Formats: sequence, C-alpha cells, structure tokens
Amino acid sequence: MLKATEYFSKMASGLSSRVINRGITRTITGPWNYVAGKRCEPCDSSGSMKVTEPAVGQVLCEVPISGLAEVNHAVASARGVFPTWRKLSGRERGQKLMAASRIIRENLEDISKLEVHDTGKPIWEARVDITSCADALEYYGGLAPAIVGQYVPLHGGSFAMVQKEPLGVIGGVGAWNFPMQTCVWKVAPALACGNTFVYKPSQFTPVTAVTLAEILTEAGVPAGVFNVIQGEGETGAMLCNHPDVAKLSFTGSVPTGVKVMTAAAQGIKLVTLELGGKSPLIIFEDADIENAVKATLMANFLSQGQVCSNGTRVFVHRRIYNEFIKCFVAATQKLKIGDPFAEDTTVGATIHEDHAKKVLSYITSAREEGATVLCGGERVMLEGKLAGGWYLSPAVITDCKDDMKVVKEEVFGSVASVLQFDSEEEAVNRANNTDFGLAGAVFTKDIQRGYRVANAIEAGTIWINTYNLYTNEVPFGGYKHSGVGRENGHAVIDYFTQSRTIYVEMGDVDCGPLYQD
Ligand code: NAD
Repeated sequence: MLKATEYFSKMASGLSSRVINRGITRTITGPWNYVAGKRCEPCDSSGSMKVTEPAVGQVLCEVPISGLAEVNHAVASARGVFPTWRKLSGRERGQKLMAASRIIRENLEDISKLEVHDTGKPIWEARVDITSCADALEYYGGLAPAIVGQYVPLHGGSFAMVQKEPLGVIGGVGAWNFPMQTCVWKVAPALACGNTFVYKPSQFTPVTAVTLAEILTEAGVPAGVFNVIQGEGETGAMLCNHPDVAKLSFTGSVPTGVKVMTAAAQGIKLVTLELGGKSPLIIFEDADIENAVKATLMANFLSQGQVCSNGTRVFVHRRIYNEFIKCFVAATQKLKIGDPFAEDTTVGATIHEDHAKKVLSYITSAREEGATVLCGGERVMLEGKLAGGWYLSPAVITDCKDDMKVVKEEVFGSVASVLQFDSEEEAVNRANNTDFGLAGAVFTKDIQRGYRVANAIEAGTIWINTYNLYTNEVPFGGYKHSGVGRENGHAVIDYFTQSRTIYVEMGDVDCGPLYQD
C-alpha cells in the first residue's frame, strides 16, 4: 500500500510526464522485431521477406522471418512481465497509453510518412489513420480506470464480488490495409485491461507496428508488455498455436480467419476475428444525390478500395439511377491518381502487383458476365520513380446482376458494382443475400425508412446517410462470416477480460439436511 504522499507524488509525476520522443525511428530501418523493450534480430529465422514499397514497386526493406524460437522468446517476454503490468492500477496503465497518444500526435507527420511508404495510400489518408491511433490510445487510456468489477449483495449480508481479470498474453495478427490502426485497435484495449501482447503484422506492411512499440516504450510501458515479431502465415500460425497465448485477435481474410479459429479451438482459446465484407449501400429515390455520391466515393475508393467495410454493392432506386450514375461517374473521373506523398493525390498505389492483377481479373470477369465498365478498371502508368507502382483507375460497373462474381466476392480494390432496385423489401432481401455481414448503409430523407432498413440489414455497422466513419466510442465487427467479437467501444473490454466471482459467506454454512448435529 502506498502512503498518501507517495501516492500523490506518483500521480503528479504520471500526469506531467514529459514527452521526449528520443526513441522513435523515423527511417525505414531494422532490426524489425521488438521484444523485451527493444528492436532486435530474431534469435532464429527461416529466411527473410523482401517487402515492396507499393508506390514505386521497389524493395523497401528486407525483413527476417521469425521462427519458433523467436515466437517462444516473444511470448515468454510478454508472459514474464504480465504479473507486473496487471498489478498496476487502471489509472497507471491508462496514463501510459495517454502518453503514447500524445507522442503519436506530436510525431503525426513522420509516422504518417512511414505508413505511406508501407502501404502506398495517399498521405492525407495516412494522417487520418495515424490520428485514429492516437484517438484509440487516448480513449482506452481514459477508460482504463473505469474497468471495474461488481459487488453483488446476497442473503443475510453475504455478498459476491465479480472481478474483471485480464486474460494474459494476447496473440495479435494483422492485415496490410491499415497497418498501425489495426494494431492499435487491438493493443490499446488489451493493454488497458492489463494484458500483455505479441503482434505479428502483415508481411506486406511490417514498419509501423515497430514504431508503435517504440512509442509505447517511450511512454513508459514496461519492456515486454508489447512485442512485435515479423513473418508470414507460418509465423502467425506459430503464435496462434502457442500454448501460453490466452487469446487470439485477428484481422484478415475469411479463409485465414478459419485457420485462426481452428487454432483457437484446438487450444481452447478465446478469439476475435475481424474479417472481410461485401457490404450493401442502398440509395433510395428521396436521397440527397450529392451526399449519396460523396458517400459512395468514401464507400468504394478510400485506400484504393482496400477497406474491409466498403459498400461495394451499390443498390440505387430505379427512379434516380440515371442521375446518380451520371454524377457518380463524373466524381470518380475527377479522382487524382498519383504520388501518394502529393497533397492532392486521392488514389495511391495498390499494395502489390499480385493483388493489382487480382483486382483487374474481377474487371475482366465482370465484362465476361455481361456487365458494363463505365469508367476505370485499368492500370495507369505513372512516370519516373512511380513507374514501378501498380496504380489502378477506380472502376464503376453497371448492368450488374447479384450472381456475378464481381458482385458476390470481396474484390478489395476500387471496383464499385451498381445495381438497380424498385422496392424497399427487394433492396433489403438482396442486400442480405450474402455470407458477409460487416457493414452497410442506407440513404434516404425518410428517417423512419432509414431506421427500418438499418434494422433489417444483417451487419455489424450500418450508416444512415453517410459511410465508412469509425469512432472508438462504438463497437465495430461483423455478423455472419465477417467475424466474431467486436473491436472498439466499451464492448471490447469484455473480449479482453474474463470474470472471476468470489462468494463471501457472512454467516454459518447452511447445508440443509446434509449435516445432522
Ligand atoms: P490474410 O488473411 O491474407 O492475412 C492476414 C494476416 O494473417 C497476415 O498477417 C498473414 O501473415 C497472417 N496469416 C496467414 N496465414 C495464417 C495462419 N495460418 N495463422 C495465422 N496467421 C496467418 O489477409 P490480408 O490479405 O492481409 O488482408 C485483407 C483481408 O483483411 C480482407 O479480406 C479484408 O476485408 C480483411 N480486413 C478486415 C478488417 C476488419 O476490421 N474486419 C480490417 C482490415 C482488413
């Protein structure tokens, strides 16, 4: 127990903690693992991966692939510090997360540039992503002291306490489209709850998870609380199968999600899965067309269309279809494809060549199945150093049918399929005719209809009269094959804690006729 004076001086030093930022690497340089509080080479590695910079198509860095010994080392590091980290008060943990948030805000420009090198997304979008990382650390830093249990009064003065306990070491595996944000959305609440963490970023975007690790160390988070190991699927599988990992938190595709859930089942571990989508955006005849067009751009073409919650099935009421298409195509053709570091660029580079070719194959299949490509859907060759990047023009496809491949499958690229509908009931039925259920939206000026349709769409997030807005205050996650569990909001606390109930008997034991004097 601290004495009152010690307590207040400790609180004061926490509150005024100076943000220094000495330890943040601002260049693309290894070592790429971060274990026990520092950057390090893996203690074993099975080769290395050449990471391509999407904007230029050249090698950005070469990263050693972590083997089982390194996975063991990282998990042991997280496990070793778990008793110390969990014993801090929520306020103490929260202050460190808040300090990390401040460091991110102070270094926003440098971190955003690292994210652009890693992903090829436009710099303005990277700034939004990195700001959202600071927001998440601030939100869960603030929430940490409020993660408390329950006191339940029972008969005769007896009572029970329900404690909210951390789970232990969390194993996180991430995707490449929002590298640092995906990581922070897991790490901030997990650490706030008293867990420790080992994270494996996508093999395509290894950079900013290590930056986050440096920032957490700078903010006073003890060595070993957050660790990063690099590698491909095999390294991810080793982490997921590790017996000392208590819970898996995964963001990625449905097929990999199945493997992660299988690993969780085999080890009786909790699991959160944030998976893909094929979300519907329903635009009724009374919608404000300009707003609907703006939202359809946000629902399809942010981050080169590589967004899980994208509304790529755009259902437009027949009565406004022609007007909508005219405005939507005109707005799409104004998007500026170019250097992701240029301030006026709105479309950057696709993550890598194979993915770009996959996106283009959906354009080909759409044509073969009878759809019309009104604009885009081609590789755009840029000049100079950008000539090696895969830049695709955003595509608007019409004459679509619900059973076309491009309409049914997640493309994960800038391809909007526009479909016509006549009635509310028809739109809802067709919107729900999918195994996915991540998100959706409805555009209408009729609030009753908007709310009714939002209630009828089978998805974890529905926007009324907007699209693709996220905030840490509300949960995000999928229905059906789009996932299990939620991230963000208070809801996520339940996914990173377990409850322990302690009954306290205040009287004599009453065991009925079992005991005879
Ligand atoms: P992916 O499934 O190919 O890979 C995701 C991660 O899993 C990578 O780090 C990869 O190395 C790892 N991995 C591969 N095999 C593994 C295994 N057997 N065990 C453990 N880890 C393994 O996905 P991706 O191409 O990186 O990302 C795109 C997908 O992610 C899309 O489907 C997109 O919709 C989805 N996504 C979802 C959300 C969300 O919040 N719902 C957010 C971003 C991306």
